[in-house]
Amino acid sequence: MYLTVNGLTKSFGELEVLKDINLTIEKGKVLSIIGPSGSGKTTLLRCLNALEQPNEGTFSFHDSFNLDFSNKIHKRDVLKLRRKSGMVFQSYNLFPHKTALENVTEGPIIVQRGKKEEEQNRAIELLTKVGLKDKANLYPNQLSGGQQQRVGIARALAIKPELMLFDEPTSALDPELIGEVLSVIKDLVKENWTMVVVTHELQFAEQVSDEVLFMDEGYIVEQGPPSQVLKEPKEERTKQFLKRIL
Ligand code: ADP
Repeated sequence: MYLTVNGLTKSFGELEVLKDINLTIEKGKVLSIIGPSGSGKTTLLRCLNALEQPNEGTFSFHDSFNLDFSNKIHKRDVLKLRRKSGMVFQSYNLFPHKTALENVTEGPIIVQRGKKEEEQNRAIELLTKVGLKDKANLYPNQLSGGQQQRVGIARALAIKPELMLFDEPTSALDPELIGEVLSVIKDLVKENWTMVVVTHELQFAEQVSDEVLFMDEGYIVEQGPPSQVLKEPKEERTKQFLKRIL
């Protein structure tokens, strides 16, 4: 098992947002998380990256890194976890006053203290990979949403993560820009990255996922291969959800 989460819970005040979440991800596999708005998908992803502190549960990564969420996560472990996982946000979260290139080099140079020239060369490689070599010196407001999100993906890759987390990476995009971002993510799937993807793009989830997890009201209602969860769901709630959005 590459990554295992057991008994994870998360509340915001009185509101219980995640209830007894158990999941495992194998190395090189893609797990997609689907479910209605407000079901806890983003919160779960943020817990995996320590952007939220869960209330309870355990987390183990690669058998080398174990956390018990009942205790406050130590700053050192937060940093360790973030170095292992690259997060791609719904709203890109780029630094507006930095160029595409600087956005990509920020993590490796400032946080990981990489050598400037080496990291700049690597950033160019990553921007080339996402089709944006010629946009390296432009600022986010000079780029389309799809281009900004591709910078966001290059930035997440720049820290050399072991796990990539995508939080509805195309939901802020105009329909005609969704394809270019999904195509970059599909390239990463071919390279066997381990990935967790929160998405509303069911066709995409079906194409790329090894496993699909359906969440509702803070619970994992159903999980399994896409052919089962998306095509022949067992649970009534999954059936209703799919009927609504297809
Ligand atoms: P999803 O990604 O499935 O739409 P979220 O994880 O964003 O769901 O949200 C789950 C629930 O948690 C929602 O009811 C939302 O309002 C609530 N929530 C999320 N973040 C916070 C927060 N920082 N403070 C309070 N409530 C929150």
